[in-house]
Amino acid sequence: MIRVSVLRAALPFLALSLASAAHAQGSPQTAARATLFQNVRIFDGKGSTLSAPSNVLVKGNIIERIATAPIAAEPGATVIAGNGRTLMPGLIDNHWHAMLIRPNPVQAMGDVGYNNIAAGVEATDTLMRGFTTIRDLGGPTFGLKDAIDQGLIAGPRIYPSGAIITVTSGHGDFRQLTELPRTIGGMLSRMEQVGGSMVADSPDEVRVRVREQLMQGASQIKLTAGGGVSSPFSPIDVSTFTEAELHAAVEAAENWGTYVAVHAFTSAAIQRSIAAGVKCIEHGFLMDEATAKLIADKGVWLSTQPLPEEMRTGLPVGSVQRTKAEEVWPGIARTYELAKKYKIKTAWGTDVLFSQALAQKQGAILASLTRWYSPAEALAMATGTNAELLALSGKRNPYPGKLGVVEQGALADLLLVDGNPLENINLIADPAKNFKVIMKDGKIYKNEN
Ligand SMILES: [Zn+2]
Repeated sequence: MIRVSVLRAALPFLALSLASAAHAQGSPQTAARATLFQNVRIFDGKGSTLSAPSNVLVKGNIIERIATAPIAAEPGATVIAGNGRTLMPGLIDNHWHAMLIRPNPVQAMGDVGYNNIAAGVEATDTLMRGFTTIRDLGGPTFGLKDAIDQGLIAGPRIYPSGAIITVTSGHGDFRQLTELPRTIGGMLSRMEQVGGSMVADSPDEVRVRVREQLMQGASQIKLTAGGGVSSPFSPIDVSTFTEAELHAAVEAAENWGTYVAVHAFTSAAIQRSIAAGVKCIEHGFLMDEATAKLIADKGVWLSTQPLPEEMRTGLPVGSVQRTKAEEVWPGIARTYELAKKYKIKTAWGTDVLFSQALAQKQGAILASLTRWYSPAEALAMATGTNAELLALSGKRNPYPGKLGVVEQGALADLLLVDGNPLENINLIADPAKNFKVIMKDGKIYKNEN
């Protein structure tokens, strides 16, 4: 991406051919490839039961045909004997930070080359856990995304937000007090230089930062509307951006046909965001009934996470972060109860940060949704429903086509599961053992069937 941009600036007359060359590399040989899954029972990403024994033909990167009657295998096609196993859509994590799993917070602001290699290795692991798509809610993922799309490295589809946009002192402002005061238009802090987060303290600054992310390929924009657990100087209760600042971001995003998602815990931060036109609330852990009702009435998305206990207990006792976590964690169960009560459009994600060990539990964190949902409801949330939120990127959707479902004409992101996850959702917690085939964009990345 960066390389192409630089060349484009230097050689404008070559811009078109360079761009199309880069794009062509994104889908190597998909046109010729065919895979036939025989005798599978399908979880389609929406329903609550498995289909009758069926056959599924994938051609190129598309699910071309689904039938209970036999489908003839064409010459050269890969034939997978399902033997009654479950075929389901690839999983989607709608709150992920691809660049912030492997490094610790200090490393995340360190050497960019190291961080990209670490993120690449993690991306391959993510795909091999059955996550064929992630919506990245902050971090410099544009290069990683291009490398994956070009086939340089195996990884999930990435819906990038680019840098988190925050205010001075807000969630995502990881500066130390010694780095104050900030001069507007002055030198960028290290976290801004690496593209992790950008500080913006006026509607004008917000517009600049939003447009910079869009220019780099952001499929949606992420702002932090209130305090967060991991940031050193953002109390949980605070609202950060003004409504005018939030609206500036919404306007800039909508001019590009996409939307703004905000990190927000409290009712005040959520209500202000909705008033400004924000389309997706991340977390929502401290919202009250009236706010839950507002989210439902306005048709706003709630993208929330069943954060595991290890995330809280991993924070040092007595630390600022641990104290804030104690405030937030009791809200998780209540948020899910409110989401159900008011039938809020609810997306699922993990928000794993700075922990490879927790990332390995990505499937287990999804399975933990059964505290509030049936296995079918949980799996539908992480496939068909999550894909509906992805589609909100509109013209900025980097992967136009239908994701998250097994149906004719949809993109072929598929898992063959040894067993029935609607009866035993814990199968998805052990992907190495139970996912026999992993396919993304029609390409087989694992076949141990
Ligand atoms: Zn996050």
